[in-house]
Amino acid sequence: MKKRIRAVQQILQEMGLYNGQIDGIAGPITRKAIQTNQEIDPALPMTRQITAFIQIEAKKRGIDAGPVDGLWGPRTSAAFDELLYQLEYETPQPVWRPDEISIPNPNNWPVQQTDQFLNVFGERGSQLVMINLPYEMKLSWDLRIRTRRTQCHTKVADSLGRILQKVLEIYGEDEISNLQLDHFGGCYNDRVMRNGTAWSMHAWGLALDFDPRRNALNWGRDRAALARPDYYDWWKCWEEEGWISLGRKRNFDWMHVQAARLPE
Ligand SMILES: [Zn+2]
Repeated sequence: MKKRIRAVQQILQEMGLYNGQIDGIAGPITRKAIQTNQEIDPALPMTRQITAFIQIEAKKRGIDAGPVDGLWGPRTSAAFDELLYQLEYETPQPVWRPDEISIPNPNNWPVQQTDQFLNVFGERGSQLVMINLPYEMKLSWDLRIRTRRTQCHTKVADSLGRILQKVLEIYGEDEISNLQLDHFGGCYNDRVMRNGTAWSMHAWGLALDFDPRRNALNWGRDRAALARPDYYDWWKCWEEEGWISLGRKRNFDWMHVQAARLPE
């Protein structure tokens, strides 16, 4: 509820109707400002008035929030996510059509779990090399530990180096740190995929994870930090080299990027 009230306060403030704190508390100033909207029935309980206000503001911006009834359902919830996005970025969320993201394959990465894949990359853990990172990273599970090296498959080392170098050129060290692009969740790791059947691309040193805390496995683009526009250039760096983001292609595991294609 606090998040909703904060959004309402922000909108009211932009309309010049509210000059109190953006604190997520529906105090008297907030209530009064909401009730300046003639479409909202002042007899409704405050929670419904707040929801109605959100529905009206979503509608104004062309977002489908369903009828203005002050009731919080899935349609209002989805509209609210879009409204929050627009309040932050002042533009609608780009329509997400993962099948239309075409990713070139200049390094001819093979499709995971195929014979060709094994021909190219060999047995798990068999062709690892230690590489230097162009900027310092922090280990996501203990941010006090910093590293400038990681182990990866020897056949992806050059590509990985070029990508990270480009990220450094585009963002610079300060922005990398602000955006937590240096929160490193690891590369080589001899383990199975998280759904527990096949070997993970990490077991060949072909995958890296970034900022796992803000890109949890089951989060979609509405929650994952790496789905935001600030990171478009980041994804461009990877995709130009043919690396695949599970987030960008499948809308889960946004932390994960790999030098292997997905089966179509
Ligand atoms: Zn991963």
